[in-house]
Amino acid sequence: MSEPLPQVVVIGGGIAGLAAAALLSGAVGGPARAVVTLLEASDRFGGKLRVGEVGGVQVDLGAEAMLARRPEAVDLAREVGLADFLEPPTTAKAAIWSRDALCPLPAGQLMGVPGDLAALAASGVVSAEGVRRAGREEPVEVGEDIAIGRYIEARLGREVLDRLVEPLLGGVYAGHADEISLGAAVPQLLPIARGGGSLVAGVHELVSRGSTAAAPAPVFQGLRGGVGTLPPALVAACERAGAQLHTHAPVQWLRRTPEGWQVRTAERTISADAVLLAVPAPVAARLLGDAAPGAAAELAAVEYASMALVTLAFRRADLPRPPSGSGFLVPPVDGRAVKASTFSSNKWGWLARSAPDTVVLRTSLGRHREEQALQLPDEELVARSLVDLGTAVGLTAVPYDTAVTRWTGGLPQYPVGHPQRVARIRAQAAQVGGLALAGAAFDGVGIPACIASARRAVNELLTPPLGASRPEGTMSA
Ligand SMILES: Cc1cc2nc3c(=O)[nH]c(=O)nc-3n(C[C@H](O)[C@H](O)[C@H](O)COP(=O)(O)OP(=O)(O)OC[C@H]3O[C@@H](n4cnc5c(N)ncnc54)[C@H](O)[C@@H]3O)c2cc1C
Repeated sequence: MSEPLPQVVVIGGGIAGLAAAALLSGAVGGPARAVVTLLEASDRFGGKLRVGEVGGVQVDLGAEAMLARRPEAVDLAREVGLADFLEPPTTAKAAIWSRDALCPLPAGQLMGVPGDLAALAASGVVSAEGVRRAGREEPVEVGEDIAIGRYIEARLGREVLDRLVEPLLGGVYAGHADEISLGAAVPQLLPIARGGGSLVAGVHELVSRGSTAAAPAPVFQGLRGGVGTLPPALVAACERAGAQLHTHAPVQWLRRTPEGWQVRTAERTISADAVLLAVPAPVAARLLGDAAPGAAAELAAVEYASMALVTLAFRRADLPRPPSGSGFLVPPVDGRAVKASTFSSNKWGWLARSAPDTVVLRTSLGRHREEQALQLPDEELVARSLVDLGTAVGLTAVPYDTAVTRWTGGLPQYPVGHPQRVARIRAQAAQVGGLALAGAAFDGVGIPACIASARRAVNELLTPPLGASRPEGTMSA
């Protein structure tokens, strides 16, 4: 007779928790490895992946694109039946709103670090002196890791930092280059930086490696209907595989027992062999205070940035000359209200096709430790977005509908020392037994990295196999 499967409770129904539930339940990636219960605090699954309607059009109100240069997100979408819905951006022509002009994002850059000085000069993002300074590539002592801002300023100069690296990092982390770790944010660059050779040449080589194929694969993929349609497809696949998924089920506390775990929600206590935490770090810190105080203290030290997305729906007839390209990023040094804008109807063909008479644009506002700007009422965030769009692209039309989506604690920050902190958290969790963590706080904030962290957590949890001293796994009301 085969061993009964272990009972695993997954806490958190964002992309990491859903991916973990799918892997454990056998919804994807092979046979079932556990009997799965997933508990999600809010009234919906998906976390930062969320679709909603603005002006009668379905759009993403959170994450909107999946990096396709790594396989995890695209593979997962295929495995839950969304292969036919994958769709790359129609245009990848992004700009930087720098020095009062919309300049093309220079070709050959990686997270704003230039790999081609001629392209940098042609873009106009930095001055001629800024290009000359970048070409000098002053030597920098890197050590084990270094803040990306400190490194780039010393190596390539302040202009490249302010006008390229800051806006790109702002787009991904909503953070500040002076604090974010080079090793955590752009790990490919750390060996080049440590090696002491030309950084620009190193970036050039990295970027050309990704684009030399006869038909280069798209860097990003979206999903027709929005990336926020991935969570419901995952939920359906998990439920078909027998997993039980609950919304409105915030976990209040966790207790390690000699047999396994007790997981308490407002309505019930669930016994389990193992728990997989896929919640933001402050929540994980609170839940692990008793069972793993060392890990809890490290988790509590992870800081988050908050941000707001403003989605604007215009009638196409009101925009005689709609802006072109996929959008723009804004160097914080220029002091604008918005840090980026996406021209969604240009970027996503599915959106333009589904609502040909509407033009959807979105802006994002807010960076780490600049939360006060987000305290403003919705109308003010809309008004400030429209002022910036007016200056940047000459937009004067009035939107017929708007939505402001606030993402409080939306993005974890990865300062110097973050990878070491993550290693300590994992080591302390491993000592507790039957405990693993996944999500954006660990190995990358992007959707593929969150899915990879879920896969890793599942493997950590099930090796060595659980189940030898399995408790009943019952639910008591
Ligand atoms: C505005 C925005 C735009 C982004 N855009 C992109 C993008 O285009 N591409 C990209 O790759 N990445 C993007 N990201 C990053 C990426 O979306 C996130 O890092 C990722 O989705 C986080 O997934 P997660 O599962 O780790 O966490 P979350 O999505 O935060 O999920 C955690 C879940 O845990 C639940 N929870 C909390 N407390 C409890 C509790 N006590 N009990 C039970 N459940 C609980 C929460 O309700 C939530 O559903 C974006 C992030 C933001 C904020």
